[in-house]
Amino acid sequence: MKTNDTRRTFIKVGASTLFFGSLFGTGLYFTPKLNAQKTLLRPPGALNEKDFLSTCIKCGQCVQVCPYHTLSLLDIKSGNSVGTPYVDARERGCYLCDLLPCVLACPSGSLNHDVIEASQVEMGIALLKNPNKCLALLNQEVTQEDIASILTHSNKNEREEKVLKDVQSYVGKPCTICADLCPYPQKENAIAMVQNQQGQWYPQVRSECVGCGVCEELCPVQGEAAIVIIPRAKYSEVYE
Ligand code: SF4
Ligand code: SF4
Ligand code: SF4
Repeated sequence: MKTNDTRRTFIKVGASTLFFGSLFGTGLYFTPKLNAQKTLLRPPGALNEKDFLSTCIKCGQCVQVCPYHTLSLLDIKSGNSVGTPYVDARERGCYLCDLLPCVLACPSGSLNHDVIEASQVEMGIALLKNPNKCLALLNQEVTQEDIASILTHSNKNEREEKVLKDVQSYVGKPCTICADLCPYPQKENAIAMVQNQQGQWYPQVRSECVGCGVCEELCPVQGEAAIVIIPRAKYSEVYE
């Protein structure tokens, strides 16, 4: 859903959004304060990394119950993190299922059982890291070629099939995929399409984004997504 947002303006993301008009088209792009590669994206409810690593018993229960096949276990190359669950958002985000079954299934409390709904999740924060790739800013419609790699994502059940069907429905239309398909219950508090001062549409990340990674997964550009998750980051750290 597009919102012509002139009132919310660009107070918190002022620097990055105001730059879009001038940097966009020059080959330059916004560099995030935090490096998305440094920290792993963990499942909903994960304790801080130190406590998570010391309590996770590597049982894989969370992986098994996830209906979206979002979670994987780290392999031997990951040192002492081997066997712990993580999210590769570009492959499959977390769809913030009702009752967070992964959290419920965790027998060790590494996924905090006090986290029972989406609004309590703090996986990270989305960031329009590559505005020069964003189809909305480029004013380009989504093509079948754009979504080809997303259509190869897991589709083993009805929920997963629906995700891919939803993405398919954007072919031939302007891209608002990240804002529309965000699974956060009050999604307009997490992300919305707005116009910058040059009249270009772009996805504005808002303070209730929980970093679930679905926007990164479904962003229909080649290679790294235009919008990515900064794991473990808080909104204030990225946007203030
Ligand atoms: S909330 Fe649902 S989609 Fe997300 S990791 Fe847990 S089980 Fe999977
Ligand atoms: S899904 Fe990606 S390309 Fe589409 S509007 Fe969002 S950031 Fe831009
Ligand atoms: S904006 Fe992206 S990361 Fe944030 S809640 Fe929505 S889909 Fe998840």
